[in-house]
Amino acid sequence: MGKKNLKNSGEVFIDRDKLFDLSHKSPPSSSEVDAILNRALRLKGLSLEDTALLLQIEDPAELQKLLHTAREIKELIYGKRLVLFAPLYIGNKCSNNCLYCGFRRDNKALARAVLTQEQIHSEVVSLLKEGHKRVLMLCGESVENPLDYFVEAIDTAYSASDGKSSIRRINVEIAPMETKGFARLKASKIGTYICFQETYDPVLYKEYHPSGPKADYAYRLTVMDRAMEGGIDDVGIGALFGLGDYKFEVLGLMEHAFHLEKVFGCGPHTVSIPRLMPAEGSAISSHVPYPVSDEDFKKLVAVIRVALPYTGIILSTRESEAIRTELFHYGISQISAGSRTNPGAYSHEQVHQNEHSDQKEAGSQFSLGDHRNLDEVISDLIDEEYIPSFCTGCYRKGRVGHDFMDLAKPGLIKEFCMPNGAFTFKEYLLDYASQATREKGLKLIDKIVNELDQKALKEKMTKVLSEIEKGKRDIYF
Ligand code: SAM
Ligand code: SF4
Repeated sequence: MGKKNLKNSGEVFIDRDKLFDLSHKSPPSSSEVDAILNRALRLKGLSLEDTALLLQIEDPAELQKLLHTAREIKELIYGKRLVLFAPLYIGNKCSNNCLYCGFRRDNKALARAVLTQEQIHSEVVSLLKEGHKRVLMLCGESVENPLDYFVEAIDTAYSASDGKSSIRRINVEIAPMETKGFARLKASKIGTYICFQETYDPVLYKEYHPSGPKADYAYRLTVMDRAMEGGIDDVGIGALFGLGDYKFEVLGLMEHAFHLEKVFGCGPHTVSIPRLMPAEGSAISSHVPYPVSDEDFKKLVAVIRVALPYTGIILSTRESEAIRTELFHYGISQISAGSRTNPGAYSHEQVHQNEHSDQKEAGSQFSLGDHRNLDEVISDLIDEEYIPSFCTGCYRKGRVGHDFMDLAKPGLIKEFCMPNGAFTFKEYLLDYASQATREKGLKLIDKIVNELDQKALKEKMTKVLSEIEKGKRDIYF
């Protein structure tokens, strides 16, 4: 199937019957698990069939083997680095009626807003003051926030400063559009374009999306084809877990990744794995149709990690602190921190710090599981010896799309990402951290550098870290 025919034929790469059969296979034997995990350790990814078998694991001993391999692969490719970002909601008006979302058109009780450029500027300054450098900008789908408005919002966000720094990467999560729209986003210097399929099951999709432009399954399924045709190098896919059988959804994500790899020679940059959370005005969000237990969630993260080793996995603050900390080990590479899902919340909170939490959450898309601020998240990451990273080096050096994958494939990602991550971490510690976080963070950086056995890298890092100490900023390889 050529690219041109894909636009309205989303089911081409999702064969519902095939995925249904694969998601009901019998569990693999112990020797089958060993063979699949050995194949996974070659770091070339797994087939759909192998992935389907791993998803069937129920036996605790086999599950431990899977988790162990996921951890090994994560450490081999990414080291102990976690990229941090904040979502920036600029509008919650929406013409769609997604049954799971607080922003759905029929939720008349929600306080609605589309931020002005001045308000967006204030939001970004508040995020910068917390120490953020990377944002994910999103909004509902409404005639009140057309592409012109969104492009202006990107410019506003990139040009804001808190006097010390500015935002270095804006990723975008907005409704699907035509190829020419993506060309405009590309010209605005966005990073990754993200869009979740929600559910890969076309029958369920229809039920959950009764009206509005989003009701078209095929148009959404082919959005990344149009994004890549429009010149976007990095795309992020995702499924909203809880809407369908999680095994089916993971296989759908895999098929999507294979499809992009086949047509464009480059798979998705990231996979997001949101779980359905309670949302005001959404009946199904409090009676999750296909609940995913914490155990199954851990398993599916590990399966994605071993099956798509070079694809970043994003975990948001929908999840609790405890589950997030555990999942870092099994494959998560990017997390949001200090998030709010109601437009205008960051600057509002800095002004009204003592407000009751109900008021702070008015107009939210869904409720959050992790309420820590950025400093608290970073402090906890330091305790686990993770390097919190705000790095944007690859993207700004042009190591994106195919080039990023070529770099990632031999496992070189660590050589750039670890030092660059440590540089941004040190900037954060010196410019924004609390005293306690700063002290233990600086000690962790010293420890990491001292333990390096590559002499040249150690010298290079020591030199840059001392330049940062002297006030230099934004250094990356
Ligand atoms: N409106 C655009 C769209 O739907 O693609 C932009 C993204 S929307 C603001 C962000 C994502 O939030 C959705 O794709 C959906 O997966 C997720 N979401 C919606 N309701 C949710 C809920 N109750 N719990 C968790 N995630 C939810
Ligand atoms: Fe609108 Fe997106 Fe929410 Fe659907 S998920 S109601 S499209 S904001």
